[in-house]
Amino acid sequence: ADLATLDAAVSTCRACPRLVAWREEVATTKRASYAGEPYWGRPAPGFGPSDARVLVVGLAPAANGANRTGRVFTGDRSGDWLYAGLHRAGLANQPTATHAGDGLELLGTRVVATVRCAPPANKPTPAERDTCAPWLHRELTLLTEVRVVVALGSFGWDAALRTCAALGWAVPRPRPRFGHGAEAVLTRAAAGGASEEVTLLGCYHPSQQNTFTGKLTEPMLDAVLGRAASFA
Ligand code: SF4
Repeated sequence: ADLATLDAAVSTCRACPRLVAWREEVATTKRASYAGEPYWGRPAPGFGPSDARVLVVGLAPAANGANRTGRVFTGDRSGDWLYAGLHRAGLANQPTATHAGDGLELLGTRVVATVRCAPPANKPTPAERDTCAPWLHRELTLLTEVRVVVALGSFGWDAALRTCAALGWAVPRPRPRFGHGAEAVLTRAAAGGASEEVTLLGCYHPSQQNTFTGKLTEPMLDAVLGRAASFA
């Protein structure tokens, strides 16, 4: 399988009844400001090239963001922050992300959601998290060039650690804790007796809750994405 096949497969997934119902309800009722627009109303696959060295792991699509536009982090305030930051770090060709055909290209970077369907109140249940985990597992298996994983929030951090551990990466002990600017190096045996490394970087999620309150500022985001870009 390749990444395009995986993207096509994930976008037809219906494994979580509560999330399927919610994503479709939002896509039918629509926010008033988008009443005249089509809604995607399905899982949001990852976005970015298959040879990405930087992987950004978020939480889940926003009900009126990626659940509307069909592209992860596209069409909501969190995405505005993220893609502007990726552009400043040299990891995106433009600072804006408005819809799937807007010309945005990621440079050596792929962005994914841990849970691929919009959850009510942005909160997936542990069961939904676990049901969706195989998609991230399969995606990371195909992304063989990844050298750095930027986890947006503790949810993405934990998912990245779990997925890497399942793929044979040795997670340091004690288990690294999430924080903004946290950094952990995971190692794995490679062919020929060598070992390879992947670095996990923690970054506060660019949710409105964090950016409106100043918990996450642009310089803080730039510091982590700039660090990530040094691996690209
Ligand atoms: Fe499938 Fe993941 Fe969506 Fe659940 S959240 S329906 S596992 S894509």
